[in-house]
Amino acid sequence: LKYSEEQAKRKQLYNQIQETKGNIRVFCRCRPLSREESSNGCATVVDFDAAKDGDLGVLTGGSNKRTFKFDRVYTPKDGQVDVFADASPLVVSVLDGYNVCIFAYGQTGTGKTFTMEGPEHNRGVNYRTLEQLFSVARERSDAFTYNLSIKQTSEGSHHVPGIVEAKVDNINDVWSVLQAGSNARAVGSNNVNEHSSRSHCILCIMVKTKNLMNGECTKSKLWLVDLAGSERLAKTDAQGERLKEAQNINKSLSALGDVIYALATKSSHIPYRNSKLTHLLQDSLGGDSKTLMFVQISPSEHDLSETLSSLNFATRVRGVELGHARKQI
Ligand code: ADP
Repeated sequence: LKYSEEQAKRKQLYNQIQETKGNIRVFCRCRPLSREESSNGCATVVDFDAAKDGDLGVLTGGSNKRTFKFDRVYTPKDGQVDVFADASPLVVSVLDGYNVCIFAYGQTGTGKTFTMEGPEHNRGVNYRTLEQLFSVARERSDAFTYNLSIKQTSEGSHHVPGIVEAKVDNINDVWSVLQAGSNARAVGSNNVNEHSSRSHCILCIMVKTKNLMNGECTKSKLWLVDLAGSERLAKTDAQGERLKEAQNINKSLSALGDVIYALATKSSHIPYRNSKLTHLLQDSLGGDSKTLMFVQISPSEHDLSETLSSLNFATRVRGVELGHARKQI
């Protein structure tokens, strides 16, 4: 009897560990070759043979191949619906009281904005998230009332002060708020693309929940972050302000990586204070919060070194030692 009690305890502990470990997910998404890359006969360095198992192969030259492991791997053929199907349970958990952070990380031009915002006719995670939250809130309206509000801000080279928190009751309200935000951004920056590649674009959805059965009220937050481009600027190409800006961005991206890594490896010290971004997200990273990072990559041979650097970053974020990953070459 004692043994089975002990076994049950161990199992419980194991499940707890699995649960915490399960709070950080990394999905890898590869964009298609652009029309220009295809017409230039640009070679592809990624292989999706085992993508269904979360394995991504990268041809690193000659006959060398490295394999990276993620919670999901999306090929260029996978669409916004496929991606959202996997993100959706996480998103909905904000209505159950969890804080959630979703990031898109990667070199500029790899599809971060495509995944998060998406084009008008093929919306990404942000729109689908809000649509789903309104729909689940409606389904649960017998038992719960949900008040949703949103706030958009940015952090980086072109800081735009956050739009005042605005209550939203349906997807149309969301559009008017976001439109006002993008107008403000256009005014604050000469070049919108420059803005989005050198700053983190942050959308926060705040949820106030009232349980109609027991009158209990809770608050939770969902952060949707299109991170600044992770590329290293060529030394000769960056000077003065631009160099400083790039250094700040790299600093904040590595600070984010350090925080998630510390959480994944259950470090006793989580370095939230090393950047404005991690400080801002502090109450939604760690504890029983849930984190999802999309690592976005290009299939092109020209981007190989940035692709490897993004995949290394994302591997580390999952709490997997890089030394170990390297041994699998
Ligand atoms: P980033 O935000 O990382 O700078 P973008 O989202 O602007 O990159 O994507 C760069 C280009 O690649 C855009 O023209 C975008 O439409 C296209 N693109 C990115 N990902 C995909 C995808 N999965 N399917 C089709 N086109 C994509």
